[in-house]
Amino acid sequence: MAAYEYETHEYDVVVVGAGGAGLRATLGMAEQGLRTACVTKVFPTRSHTVAAQGGIAASLSNMGPDHWQWHMYDTVKGSDWLGDTDAMEYLAREAPKAVYELEHYGVPFSRTEEGKIYQRPFGGHTTEFGEGPPVQRTCAAADRTGHAILHTLYGQSLKNNAEFYIEFFAIDLIMSEDGQCQGVVCWKLDDGTMHVFNAKMVVLATGGYGRAYFSATSAHTCTGDGGGMVARAGLAMQDMEFVQFHPTGIYGSGCLITEGARGEGGYLTNSEGERFMERYAPHYKDLAPRDYVSRSMTMEIREGRGVGKDGDHIHLNLSHLPAEALHERLPGISESAKIFAGVDVTKEPIPVLPTVHYNMGGIPTNYWGEVLNPTKDDPTALVPGLMAVGEAGCASVHGANRLGSNSLIDLVVFGRAAAIRAGKVVDPEAPNPVLNQASVDKAFDRFDSIRNASGAVPTAELRLEMQRTMQADAAVFRTSKTMAEGVEKMTAIAAKMDDLHVTDRSLVWNSDLMESLELTNLMPNALATIVGAEARKESRGAHAHEDFTTRDDENWRVHTVSRIEGNKVDLSYRPVIVDPLSTEAEGGINLEKIAPKARTF
Ligand SMILES: Cc1cc2nc3c(=O)[nH]c(=O)nc-3n(C[C@H](O)[C@H](O)[C@H](O)COP(=O)(O)OP(=O)(O)OC[C@H]3O[C@@H](n4cnc5c(N)ncnc54)[C@H](O)[C@@H]3O)c2cc1C
Repeated sequence: MAAYEYETHEYDVVVVGAGGAGLRATLGMAEQGLRTACVTKVFPTRSHTVAAQGGIAASLSNMGPDHWQWHMYDTVKGSDWLGDTDAMEYLAREAPKAVYELEHYGVPFSRTEEGKIYQRPFGGHTTEFGEGPPVQRTCAAADRTGHAILHTLYGQSLKNNAEFYIEFFAIDLIMSEDGQCQGVVCWKLDDGTMHVFNAKMVVLATGGYGRAYFSATSAHTCTGDGGGMVARAGLAMQDMEFVQFHPTGIYGSGCLITEGARGEGGYLTNSEGERFMERYAPHYKDLAPRDYVSRSMTMEIREGRGVGKDGDHIHLNLSHLPAEALHERLPGISESAKIFAGVDVTKEPIPVLPTVHYNMGGIPTNYWGEVLNPTKDDPTALVPGLMAVGEAGCASVHGANRLGSNSLIDLVVFGRAAAIRAGKVVDPEAPNPVLNQASVDKAFDRFDSIRNASGAVPTAELRLEMQRTMQADAAVFRTSKTMAEGVEKMTAIAAKMDDLHVTDRSLVWNSDLMESLELTNLMPNALATIVGAEARKESRGAHAHEDFTTRDDENWRVHTVSRIEGNKVDLSYRPVIVDPLSTEAEGGINLEKIAPKARTF
């Protein structure tokens, strides 16, 4: 057994992650007087949420008529009928409250002439249950909305005495013999000390796993650490095959150009200068949802109408927009286009390509953020002591495809919901759990074996192999053949983890070791993604299967539940929740409105 000395910390709640979801949960917990620690591997305001540009969806009706029921309908349709209806209702209904709270906490939203929160159109957000024109629902602070939210929530959390453990890397969950989460084992990156957090509730808010792919808009820190920890604890991940490609990553760097650019009037063209989205989505054109636009772009390129010398990308045009509008509403992306594509957006189009952007799948939860451990008899059984929120979680409100600006609202609505729930289930007077020492030791043993890994394959090499395989075989379009090959290749790649080589054995600022730990987290996420995709014989949302091109509600309107054993993924399925929280008579949605139908735009 590896001998590491460690310090033990006791809290009511430990939140792992300080992005929008982690900070909103931390703040809500601390506001209620729960002793709350927030553990984060990067400085809070460096979390990936800081990069969110476009905005946050809520039916405030500041720019025209809107209703939460319309927002709910769009979310249901956007999800391609895979989202859980109770959670989608909760999201749309609570969204305005959550945004006004942000405003009162101090988020500097852009304003309308009358001083109301400015809202812009975004893909898939409509009026009249998809029958009317696009709606302006996405609240924005210029094109730096995530930045504004993150800084505000961090300040508010400090004000409410939440305690931060910054540059602490969470290694593994501590689980009792009977399956209760009791805390988390951490490594402090800057001085090499080890720490055990004992808590009555652990909240995973560790973000997505975009870095399982070669080209992603997400930060290099988006390595699915929460999913990795959950997989090692024998718990489930859900709907991992649904990976969103954002239509407009800058060609080459993958850096994001927000959908807000099309919301403000930008449009896509092919090598013939044609606005081709008019052909694919006559009604909503460039503002169709992301899966739709990404597929249309890929079709154009495949049919020989891509731009550039290799005909392998598409143009995003903004130069027809007034220079003041670009300056006022989209200053950040004007700068990104200059730096990463050498383009002056007032004069030239931006070269863009669909790029991995968001993980719809994640750790399954109910709409209070409580983690599920689905079994055949009880598909919504809970894991005591564990919650998951934000991109790491899967509530599931995004189903098979997330609408733009629905993630930031997911972070704050469910971060807040987790805090409300914890206020009810966590008793500050109760003693902390007696830690299962075997589980603590197991975490240190794993850490030690990676630290001393002396095989033949360097971490960076294996990571690249994984990223290239995922990029090629779990792409915008998928076939039975590519996915079967992908499963085979990924299984072989995962097996090479046993032959990993870590060069640096120190404990202080050892980025080699940290990246190796991250790779142990990326790997189960990637495996679950490709295996889940191979098994799903239909097309739904972001999962576009060329051998099964239509949605099959009869057989596949189910959540994929994956558990990892060794390098094997065990799949089962749980039913989608189809009942809303309130009936139409209670002011809820008309069920006929959200009944499954073909998804056209
Ligand atoms: C470029 C870009 C632009 C986007 N724009 C928008 C937008 O305009 N609107 C919208 O709705 N959505 C947008 N999205 C999506 C949205 O921003 C993300 O889904 C969301 O920010 C994720 O937030 P999070 O709190 O779940 O995680 P993150 O913000 O990714 O934070 C994860 C946190 O977990 C911590 N962590 C992770 N692993 C560990 C570990 N092992 N130990 C300790 N701490 C750990 C990190 O330190 C970090 O604090 C965008 C995404 C990208 C990439």
